[in-house]
Amino acid sequence: MRNPVQDYLEQIVAQCGDAGGEVAGYIPELAAADPDRFSLCLATVDGQVYEVGESDHRYSIQSMSKPFTYALGLHDQGIEAVARKVDVEPSGDAFNEISVSPDTGRPKNPMINAGAITASSLVAGDSGDERFARAVEWYGRFAGRELELDSSIYSSELGTAHRNRAIAHMLREFGILEGDPEEVLDQYVRQCSVAVDTRDLALMAATLANGGRQPRTGEQVLDPALVEHVLSVMTTCGMYDAAGDWVTAVGMPAKSGVSGGIIGVLPGQVGIAVFSPRLDPHGNSARGVALFERMSTDMEMHLMHVSRGSRNAVRSSYSLASARSNTHWQGADEEVLDRVADRAVVYELHGDLLFAGAEKIVRTVVEDGPELASSTSRTSTTSPT
Ligand code: GLN
Repeated sequence: MRNPVQDYLEQIVAQCGDAGGEVAGYIPELAAADPDRFSLCLATVDGQVYEVGESDHRYSIQSMSKPFTYALGLHDQGIEAVARKVDVEPSGDAFNEISVSPDTGRPKNPMINAGAITASSLVAGDSGDERFARAVEWYGRFAGRELELDSSIYSSELGTAHRNRAIAHMLREFGILEGDPEEVLDQYVRQCSVAVDTRDLALMAATLANGGRQPRTGEQVLDPALVEHVLSVMTTCGMYDAAGDWVTAVGMPAKSGVSGGIIGVLPGQVGIAVFSPRLDPHGNSARGVALFERMSTDMEMHLMHVSRGSRNAVRSSYSLASARSNTHWQGADEEVLDRVADRAVVYELHGDLLFAGAEKIVRTVVEDGPELASSTSRTSTTSPT
């Protein structure tokens, strides 16, 4: 039997075709990308991966490395030490804007280049080489396989990284970077040049969706408290100066890269990655944005979508008198049961007990309390679903 999720994904890919835009042209390797290449992968938190298109075609991770480098900085140094160097405020600026606090020089957030270069410097290690080796190994733990550098992208990027070089030196001048800015720049450029495919990216996103545990290897890569922190920053800052449009139209933590990829994370459910190299004016994949909007609407994936889950957390409740077990109680036990069975209630619960569901249960039990204390007989209730 065909899987309806696979059918659905193939159908929306066919319907959301070319959305316009231009392939990134600042280095020959990116400019030469075939604009019609495409892939979409969706990975569930239990490790099922749906794939459409060329899901094993490799390209550079670019800015989609930023949330993972930031996560590693947090893991290595702790939230407070990282916060002294890079803020968590949306800048509303383009990715390569020199967006720093005028008084402290602290970059606005780790998803724009100034903050991402700073985050690279916060990875543990005594040299750029050591920090890069640690970062690429770390990305691989999210992807579930060892990842490698695309060295032609790296040398091309490094030769033209004038703006990022300026940003790194400015951060050094402000005391935000402490070591050699050239070394950090080199590390950052290498991080952006790690080769991934869309399946890797979907699994990296799914690891974040799964509270930091890689769905297939089972490894707890990132502490759940840090996952929340990273996802928050992705939500407010991940799509640069289109962050507000993205949050309203799609509503999930995300990150894009100039190679044409976008990752999105639906906490507790799925990680999604799309690849299509034509970019909109914000530097986000145009077809990727269109597909995310479509999925979010069709499958009610918006984070703010109100689910009905908590309303029926108590599936049914009935008195023990009306549901005696098959155990044949005897003597004193039977006597106790006869005496109290109509004051003992069985609550059947279902669903994830998040705050609202747990509150509903507690309230039901509290409200039933006085009735039970005085009750001689109680009718069973079943909540409407
Ligand atoms: N290598 C690119 C840069 O730093 C990455 C930017 C991006 O993917 N948005 O300029």
